[in-house]
This record gives sequence, C-alpha cells and structure tokens, in this order.
Amino acid sequence: MKNSREKIVIRTSIISILANIVLAGFKAAVGLISHSIAIVSDAVNNLSDALSSIITIVGTKLAGRAPDKKHPYGYGRIEYITSLVVSAIVLYAGITAGIESVKKIFAPEEVDYSITTLIILIAGIIVKFALGLYVKKKGRDVKSDSLVASGSDAFNDAILSISVLASAIVYMIFHISIEAYVGVLLSIFIIKAGIELIKESVDNVLGTRVESSLAKSIKQEILKEKSIQGAFDLVLNDYGPDKYLGSVHIEVPDTMTVSEIDKISRDITKRVSKKFGVILHTIGIYSVNTKDKNVIKIRKDIEKIVFSHKEVLQMHGFYLDEKDKSLSFDIIIDFKAEDRAKTYQEIYDAVNAKYPEYSLAITLDVDASD
Ligand SMILES: [Zn+2]
Repeated sequence: MKNSREKIVIRTSIISILANIVLAGFKAAVGLISHSIAIVSDAVNNLSDALSSIITIVGTKLAGRAPDKKHPYGYGRIEYITSLVVSAIVLYAGITAGIESVKKIFAPEEVDYSITTLIILIAGIIVKFALGLYVKKKGRDVKSDSLVASGSDAFNDAILSISVLASAIVYMIFHISIEAYVGVLLSIFIIKAGIELIKESVDNVLGTRVESSLAKSIKQEILKEKSIQGAFDLVLNDYGPDKYLGSVHIEVPDTMTVSEIDKISRDITKRVSKKFGVILHTIGIYSVNTKDKNVIKIRKDIEKIVFSHKEVLQMHGFYLDEKDKSLSFDIIIDFKAEDRAKTYQEIYDAVNAKYPEYSLAITLDVDASD
C-alpha cells in the first residue's frame, strides 16, 4: 500500500514538472518578445513550481527508505520537512511577484502584446487549472501534504495568469496599464497561501492531535473484546503520513489471569495493526476491582469528588488495594482549564482528606486523543 502511494506521488509530480517546464518555456519566449515583465515573472513562477515538484519527489523517495539502526522509526517525517521547503518556495514566489508588481506601479513599461501572447496565456491558464485539480485530488487521495500544497499553488498561478491576461486585454483595448495593481493584490494572496502552508507543515513537525475518528475507531475495535471494560490514554506518534506507533491502556477485571491478559493484548495488537496499520507497541493494564462491594462504593464517591471539578474530562484506572492500603486512579483535565496543576492539587487534597487511611496516587494524564 505504501509503495503505491509513493508511485502516485512521484508520477503526479513528474506530470507537474513537465507541464510547468513547457509552460515556463513558452511564457519566457513570448514574455521576452513582447517585453512584458509580467509574463516573464509568470514564467519564473512556473519554474519555481517545477522545482517544488522535484523537491517533493526527492522527499517521497527519502521518506520511503527502510528503517535502519540509527533511524528505527524510518524516514517518513522527511516529507514534513520537504513540505516546509515547498511552502517556503511558494512564499518566496509571492514576495517576488509583489516586489515586481510594486516596481511596475512606479516605473510602467511600454509593452507589445500580440495574439500569440494571448493564446499562450490562455493555454497556460487552462493547463494550470487542470493541473491544480489533478494534483490536489491525487494529493488528497494519498494524503500527501506536498502534493496538496503544489496543487493549491497551481490554482494560485492560474489566477495570477488570469490577471496577466486581463491586464494584457485591457492594455490592448484601452491602452491603460493595470497589471501592476492586480499583481500586488494577487501576490498578497500567494503570500497568504504560503504562510498557511508553512503553518501546516510546522504543525506536522510538532505533532498534532490524532484525528478524532481514528482514535475513536481504534478504541471501539479494542472494546470489541468483551472482557475489556475500558480503553484509555491512546497515544499515537506519527513517523510520517499514516505511520503510527503508539500505546493504550485497558481496564480488565481483577479476576483475570496473566495468560488471559496476554492473549487479549496480543489479539488487540494484531487487530489494530491489521485494520488501521497502527502499531500499538505497549498495552498498559489497569485492574478493576470486582470482588469488593465496598470498593465499588468508594469509587462512586470519589468519582463524585473528581467530577465536581468541571474541567475534568475523564477518570479511569481506579484501583483500591485493601491489603496495601493503596488507592490509585488517573484523571484527565481539559487543556482549557485555567490551571491544571491547581485543579489536580484540589482533587488530591479532597480525596486525601476523605480517605486518609489509603496512600493515594493520582496520575494526571494528558488529553492526547478523543
Ligand atoms: Zn491513564
């Protein structure tokens, strides 16, 4: 599956490179003949797209390399860096177009458009729109940020070319030069797109919250095993698009034996890997008291204390050991809470005051997934 993704990214990028080089060639020729800096910079813009696509291919090739001793998680994250480079190129092209346009407001130039110029501009716009649609669709299909980025860029370029065409027509009919003003407006548009793409790539580098639907589906799959009473603390680290490695905690009744737990945990790992391609390297076990009615009563009481703080999203992993006189559970406090440490301390103090006979351990979990 990974291999076909790589092939699609590379094939799409090659199509994009060829289209951009052909466009850049034609535009550079007519731009030079008609003395239009607008058309020449449009050509340069197309060349920068070809460059982006080449970087995308290099990124995908590097990302597909097999893991080795030094990089046991593989090379998938290289794609996030190459996306960042592509975004920087978009930003650069936007700034350059802006500077050129501003220059032309102050120093307009005599241009000489012909019918051939118009035909090539129109053909360029059609090709760019078609390319943008195609590349973006393929990018979405295989979840490649670089492809989606270069697809958006192709749309922006088509619009930029429309402004060049429009100003050429206006110039031919009315002899008024407006291309510089339109150019400034559009360069702002491109710069904005570049900044958004950079943000997205940076988010990927930092690591973002796992998609809610994936987290929920994985937990649902785990809970299909009847003896598991709850699945919590799902943490997924991604090492490239669709390459997840992670851990989860499950609650099982304290009557189960190690060999029974071993069996279900291996079973979960296998099913989650098969269905989602997600590797759960660790499954933590929470034992649930089932024998002692009094413990269940205490748990209900503590739940009341905990959930009286409305910033608390979840409480799980409750276990009381009468013999050890120990009591432990986990809570998740909303990131939105003003002071998570303070809420934690309040809960700790309240529970400790009510059940001083037990040694208390409350784990503050991170709200990492839905
Ligand atoms: Zn937990």
